[in-house]
Amino acid sequence: MLTASTDIQYLKGVGEKRAELLRRRGIDTVGALLRFYPRAYLDWTNITPIAECPFDQNVTVKARIITPVKENYIRRGMTLYKFSAEDESGIINVTLFNRKFLAEKLREGREYLFYGKLGGSFIIREMSSPEIKEGDFSGIEPIYPAWDGFTSNMLERLMKTALDSVADIPDVLPAEIRKRNSLCSFGTALRNIHFPLERQAFEQAKKRLVFEELFILQTGLAFLKKRRRGLAGCTVRKNLFAEFKKTLSFTLTGAQERVIEECLADMSSGRPMNRLVQGDVGSGKTAVAAALCYIAAGNGFQSALMAPTEILAEQHYSTLRSITENSGIKCALLTGSQSKKQKNEIKAALKSGETDLAVGTHALLTDDVEFDRLGLVITDEQHRFGVAQRAKLSAKGDNPHTLVMSATPIPRTLGLIIYGDLDISVIDEYPRGRQVIDTYLVNSSYHKRIYSYIKKFLDSGRQGYIVCPLVEENEALEITSASEYYETLRDGDFSGYSLGLLHGKMPAREKESVMRRFAAGELQLLISTTVIEVGIDVPNAVVMVIENAERFGLSQLHQLRGRIGRGEYKSVCILVSDSASEETRRRLNVIKNCRDGFKIADEDLKLRGPGDFLGSRQHGLPDMKIADIFADRDTLHSAGVEANRLLSEDPELSAPQNAELRKEIAELYKKLNQN
Ligand code: ADP
Ligand code: MG
Repeated sequence: MLTASTDIQYLKGVGEKRAELLRRRGIDTVGALLRFYPRAYLDWTNITPIAECPFDQNVTVKARIITPVKENYIRRGMTLYKFSAEDESGIINVTLFNRKFLAEKLREGREYLFYGKLGGSFIIREMSSPEIKEGDFSGIEPIYPAWDGFTSNMLERLMKTALDSVADIPDVLPAEIRKRNSLCSFGTALRNIHFPLERQAFEQAKKRLVFEELFILQTGLAFLKKRRRGLAGCTVRKNLFAEFKKTLSFTLTGAQERVIEECLADMSSGRPMNRLVQGDVGSGKTAVAAALCYIAAGNGFQSALMAPTEILAEQHYSTLRSITENSGIKCALLTGSQSKKQKNEIKAALKSGETDLAVGTHALLTDDVEFDRLGLVITDEQHRFGVAQRAKLSAKGDNPHTLVMSATPIPRTLGLIIYGDLDISVIDEYPRGRQVIDTYLVNSSYHKRIYSYIKKFLDSGRQGYIVCPLVEENEALEITSASEYYETLRDGDFSGYSLGLLHGKMPAREKESVMRRFAAGELQLLISTTVIEVGIDVPNAVVMVIENAERFGLSQLHQLRGRIGRGEYKSVCILVSDSASEETRRRLNVIKNCRDGFKIADEDLKLRGPGDFLGSRQHGLPDMKIADIFADRDTLHSAGVEANRLLSEDPELSAPQNAELRKEIAELYKKLNQN
């Protein structure tokens, strides 16, 4: 008898060569093979009478062959087999291509099951290349993802062998958890996920396996989170918060207050804070960062605030300096474009502890940037940084408090999972008096009118953006089109105005310089690819045109639009699209009518699915085998409840009955570290 951990090579039907092919897909043990689930099923149990079959949809019919199977040689490499079959309701004409082996087995007068799409007309119904089974077959057939050297059928046979030869498959889920959640055993689930006899058995199996996968994920992440400790306890003097508020020229929104309080609670808990602040563009995240830096300094520790671009770092620096200038807090800016001498001075002051607060770009990550007592690390626009970069900055302190800020609106359920080892705060309110952005949707016949409309804004001293079409998978083309568009406008409709061009392949320094000139008001209109998406705050820019808007994701459109409507002036966003598709209209109307980033993100998720929405690269979680974090969110929740319960009973997962779970979590960590 084999066990789940038996090397795949020892399974009957697998030799050395096949074992190698299987290993390439990560299947190295019998257990791993059994966890390679079908990608789809062919349901032979749901039989439809021929007369009732809809056209062009997959159906199963059960029919008796009523003619001989005729062989038609068309040309070399192309032989057709034709015959008719009937059930009580009607007749179908079946054609098979080149399937000699199958065709020769078929017998006139016998009943078979045919699975495929029905074509033809109501008078002559046809089925081309259906799957065929003996008439007494009943069941649901698994379809496995095939790859080089392996067909679905081969995998099916191996699965059967494996299921028959493995004695006892250990269950990761403790019996009580199974019972509380009405889940079947692992063995039953495996049999029914591969070879379900009926739909309900499959559903049961899937439910159990989805639960298990999400349970392991959440137990693993919660376990990680619990292990973070350290940091010599520090208390935070809260009256500093009141002091901070007096330095502001505005009153904090309720949401900003709440989020700052949540952070302060973390910071005085004796454990390092590890929190994500999510706030839509313009919700005022910078003020939250400023408050924490201010309070950190008052408590005697240094802070670092990292932003993805120089211009953004500069902006933060000047904001923070104006807040801290009268309170004796020393700020410094550190970016790549500073002179060596400048950088060295700044680094020396950070190392000696003379500087309290460092604002900067990736430059903060270099090895020779050292701190005396780094206690707080903040990264802005988190999605532009990898998890590893964040960790690198934190490692410059002794378990400092960390805060990440992001405007990429991730629905809360998803956020909890993605940032599983982070706590989450949401700024769900905008500062009062924020301008409403009027959004219009037009087609390209409006271009001339759009241009004169923009000119009116420019003439009255305002600025604007034109965002060029996204060219799928082809950055070079995208840049060419942006450059050409820029030249056309510069020499044509907008001659006499000062235009700037911005795209991703420009050297960082040039990009920064264009942005700087735009921020200073020297450039009136910026023609750009999506690089302006992040962070920049130019309240005087009030009009934005987005070309070929249908090519952008909803959240992306929302982020882009967030660049305007930041000041006292009325702002206008014009979406240009010639797409006639119903679906596209619907999507663009969501943007037109809604300005709540979280609602838009949810809509986006519904329309595109979480895979497209985030991409595993971006959220850093391993790909799920069977669960869908969004579609299975109810299970996500119940599995999370059980994960926490288990960890409170067995915090170290040292109980013998949790040994299997520990193994699975170790596997999960391996995958997490690969990302
Ligand atoms: P984001 O969350 O996109 O980073 P910012 O922090 O850049 O937003 O804030 C956007 C603008 O709103 C800034 O000009 C900032 O000064 C202003 N602001 C932030 N909080 C408030 C507030 N409570 N009341 C009024 N204005 C605010
Ligand atoms: Mg910001």
